[in-house]
Amino acid sequence: MIHYNAPMSAIPVSAPSAEREESLRSRTRTPILIGVAVILCILTGVLSWRLSLDWQQAELAAASQPRLEFYRTALSQKLEEFRYLPALVGQDLRIQALFAEPLEARTIDVANAYLDSSRVDPSISAVYIMDRTGLTLASSNWRDPTSYIGHNYGFRPYFKEALEGSPGRFYGIGVTTLEPGYFLSAPIRRNGEIIGVAAAKIALDELEQNWQRSADLLLVADSTGVLLSASAARWRYRTLRPLPEHILRHLRSTRQYVDADLTPLTDADGEPLPVFDGPKAIRFTAADHPHADAGGGRYLVQSVQVDPPGWRLLMLTDLSAARERAFANASAATLAVAFLISLGVYAQLRRRRRLERIASQRALQRAADELELRIAERTAELMRANQDLQQNLQARQQAERILTETRDAAIQGGKLAVLGQMAAGITHEINQPLAAMTTLADNAIRFLDLDRKDEVRSNLGLISQLAQRMGRIVAQLKTFSRRDAAVLQPVCVAEMVANAMLLVDSRLRAVEADVVTVHEDPDRTVLADSTRVEQVLVNLLMNACDAIEGRPVRRLTVSSDRDGAMVRVTLQDSGPGIGPEVMPHLFEAFFTTKPAGKGLGLGLALSRLIIESLGGTLDAANIEGGGARFEIRLPPG
Ligand code: ADP
Repeated sequence: MIHYNAPMSAIPVSAPSAEREESLRSRTRTPILIGVAVILCILTGVLSWRLSLDWQQAELAAASQPRLEFYRTALSQKLEEFRYLPALVGQDLRIQALFAEPLEARTIDVANAYLDSSRVDPSISAVYIMDRTGLTLASSNWRDPTSYIGHNYGFRPYFKEALEGSPGRFYGIGVTTLEPGYFLSAPIRRNGEIIGVAAAKIALDELEQNWQRSADLLLVADSTGVLLSASAARWRYRTLRPLPEHILRHLRSTRQYVDADLTPLTDADGEPLPVFDGPKAIRFTAADHPHADAGGGRYLVQSVQVDPPGWRLLMLTDLSAARERAFANASAATLAVAFLISLGVYAQLRRRRRLERIASQRALQRAADELELRIAERTAELMRANQDLQQNLQARQQAERILTETRDAAIQGGKLAVLGQMAAGITHEINQPLAAMTTLADNAIRFLDLDRKDEVRSNLGLISQLAQRMGRIVAQLKTFSRRDAAVLQPVCVAEMVANAMLLVDSRLRAVEADVVTVHEDPDRTVLADSTRVEQVLVNLLMNACDAIEGRPVRRLTVSSDRDGAMVRVTLQDSGPGIGPEVMPHLFEAFFTTKPAGKGLGLGLALSRLIIESLGGTLDAANIEGGGARFEIRLPPG
């Protein structure tokens, strides 16, 4: 039993094309899916950030709105609270007396004391009275070094307005005290005639201090856009927009903001601050940031109009907390989406891994099946081959047996054929001496009767010679048909040639062969079985006779000589030679060109077998100029 173990690697493990395609598709899909997932996460992040920021800002704006209202009310109240104070002061008799006796020190003192007492609130920084030229006659701060008394404020708009009969309002920096304030004015009349102007300066310090305490940044812009009050000191006297040249000129002439640097306040993009009612997010550069040391600089701007006309209150709410919340929301949304995507990817991976596992299990199973099938096939093949081999072996042994038997039989058959062929010649050879012997014997009897003893003796002598010759022929025939083992002994070459010639003598004569025998050394011997060598020589001579038969020249040369270590016997004829188609098969058993019944095709095959069994060689060749040559080489005796 033969087993065949094929290595696993020799078996190609091939998944079916559908599974292979599926795995290929999923492999090319993976980077696309990752890309889509990343884009999805980014989109979610950006979108949720925007939405959340908008929402947070809207929330903040809504939450800030009441505070803005509160600040506006507080500001309006502060500005309007003392609106009637100058008019009231102007009607007081002590002030009226001042105008009656303007140079009287006592009336001035009384007026000053009254004005001081009219400062009912700490935010009223000064109350003062001017004549029609704008010269200050009396003032609540008459005791201060920066007293207004003796100063002329005729150039101030609030003075001019009051002189024209209407109450004046004005925000500006005090030219004497250099402190900012809200100036209220009213005309002082006597008998319907304007004799002077009463004014009060309201300080907004307290309000500003309150604002500074709150987390909001508050700005108050006047009708020209100048920020006259700001909870961040560095923004005071900046402008909401660049001011035209004529306004700047006017401001300088009224000395409203004295020498303040009126540069515009813009956001980081250089845009002016929004002055509409809705909320808007802005960002300041570090230079313009309200607090030099603060980070972020992002604010939500909301603004409202306040009285006096054109004034606006702006409230800036820090956006950093809102932005942090928006960022947290966006991060949470992005993380949630990333988590969901991860879940999806995980599920997909699990599915793919399961599919791959199933596919590889199937492939393994297939490979195992295939392997088993192959092993079975190979085993069957080998078993068949084994059987064939055994059959061949048997056939070969049988053929060998047949060949051996055939060869033995053929050798014997060959001999018999040669014998058969020789029978006619032998009969002829024996018949002639027999007839002669009969005649000689008859004549001898007659000579005996006549007592002619000499003739009788001569006849008997002849009869004896003839009988001896016949005996030799029979002996040759006996040796030819012997089947016993070869006896190797030194035998004379010339003798063997002569014996063979004798055996084919009748045939030689029949074809009228011209036989030439040349022996280099007539006594040369070889180590052989003479009977068998003669058999071979007979064969070769018979073939030569066949070859020269009927040809114009019928020469046959038999020679012997030394060829190296061997003794060579050469037979040459003047026949047609051996054809090229015959040459390769010359020594094959049963190869003959002769008609059926005449040739068996065993002669040369047996001859070579015999010579080789004696340790020699038998070769054939054609002679140049026609004819065949056979050479026997035998070891010397
Ligand atoms: P057979 O003589 O029975 O044919 P052989 O084995 O003796 O068988 O010879 C085989 C063949 O070799 C012959 O048929 C012949 O064609 C060829 N042959 C043998 N001897 C000679 C020769 N001397 N000249 C030409 N052909 C020869």
